[in-house]
Amino acid sequence: MISFDGTFAGFRVAARDALSADVEPAQALFDDAQVAQRGLLLYAAPAHAAQFTVPRGFMALGETVAQHRDPSRWALLYRVLYRLTHGEPRLLSRATDPDIRVLARMGSAVRRDIHKLHAFVRFRKIEHDGKPLWVSFYEPDHRVLAAAVPHFVARLGDEPFLIATPDGAAHWDGKALSLSGGASPELFARAAANESEQAIEGLFVAYYASVFNPARANLRATLNEMPRRFWKRIPEAQVLPQLLEQAASRTGEMLEVDVVAAQVPEGAALPALADAASRCTACPIHHGATQTVFGLGPQSARIVLVGEQPGDEEDRRGAPFVGPAGRLLRTLVGEAGLDFDALYVTNAVKHFKWEPQGKRRLHMKPAYSEVRACRPWLEAELARLQPDVIVCLGVTAAQSLLGPGFRLAQGKERVYPQPWARALLTTYHPSAILRLEGQAASDARAQLVADLRRARRLTEPLSASDAAPAEL
Ligand code: URA
Repeated sequence: MISFDGTFAGFRVAARDALSADVEPAQALFDDAQVAQRGLLLYAAPAHAAQFTVPRGFMALGETVAQHRDPSRWALLYRVLYRLTHGEPRLLSRATDPDIRVLARMGSAVRRDIHKLHAFVRFRKIEHDGKPLWVSFYEPDHRVLAAAVPHFVARLGDEPFLIATPDGAAHWDGKALSLSGGASPELFARAAANESEQAIEGLFVAYYASVFNPARANLRATLNEMPRRFWKRIPEAQVLPQLLEQAASRTGEMLEVDVVAAQVPEGAALPALADAASRCTACPIHHGATQTVFGLGPQSARIVLVGEQPGDEEDRRGAPFVGPAGRLLRTLVGEAGLDFDALYVTNAVKHFKWEPQGKRRLHMKPAYSEVRACRPWLEAELARLQPDVIVCLGVTAAQSLLGPGFRLAQGKERVYPQPWARALLTTYHPSAILRLEGQAASDARAQLVADLRRARRLTEPLSASDAAPAEL
């Protein structure tokens, strides 16, 4: 048993000792039960631990993965460390190695959780010791508070705040930051007691409702900023549906999103989502379509490609990107060095919208209200997959996830912050390339391949500089 204090710094010391004693991964049982000392080793600890050199990327990834909640993370980190120092120095660049895959996935989950904390923490002001204090309760999936909190220090400046999580709290008094034990016990008791929490919450909701101006309500922007699955964590969201409804009836805008959201089974796996979506009638497009065309690909996909809507062939066959645009896409995906079958491919809209022209069914661009109505399905797919990278093919996909104001021209070279993946890229739709000719077609094609390559690089756990040596 190797006991240490549960930090990555503590793990490094313990792992150095274990490597010096040549403890094999199968023998190394890590206990991070907050024992802030070296020792309790079942093997003879060396008098002087040797020095070990590892790629710098391991240190960065290790620091991140240490915040993951999975108890197996220490054993995994040690196994990777052991392999790095026992004849596999380039292991980290082997993205398909099962250990590296899990390590990278844990790293992504932690990074995403930090981003979520930044985006969805909501503060309310209370009096503490006669002074104002901004208080927030938040339940992160992983132990990310310490890594996430500097963001708030930079933003709030000298305003004191407290972020309480089930694992501990971060308290900033305007000058110094203390983690966990730092906040006073009375404050914890007062803030955590149900009654006072409800009182604070109630006040906050009332405040939010009083400043909410329906005439200025922007339904899309609000929903884009605040994905529905996070609403339960956000106090003002309790009044949002009601307020938005009022705003919508004033402007005559349909709230299709509420209709479809009710049909998305919470937390369902991909096949169950596909099944539920097969009965979706939230917008009028389903009337003319043969079937719902849901996304396709493995649950393990690290990259999600999002198109506009199924075409004629997709509608008949019930699978995305199997027609002419899909055939081009497969070729370009291959040119970018990606395996099409390892990707998850889906569309912003899951039904085919068309108009008749003689015997043919001509593609019609979906209205934004239809894109909007379908978005909960896309969001549910993304929540399920938790990919590293989302590639929006064309403007409809990008508008679905980034809002109706998005224009493709502004998308070049930009990676957008959002809550579903480490990165979101926007690029050309293969159908657009099929419509172009000459130089314009080859330029767009080259750009799409370059963007897909970029997506591939973003899934790799290591960049070149991460391979530089660092001391463990
Ligand atoms: N175009 C799309 O956007 N999606 C498909 O599935 C097929 C063509």
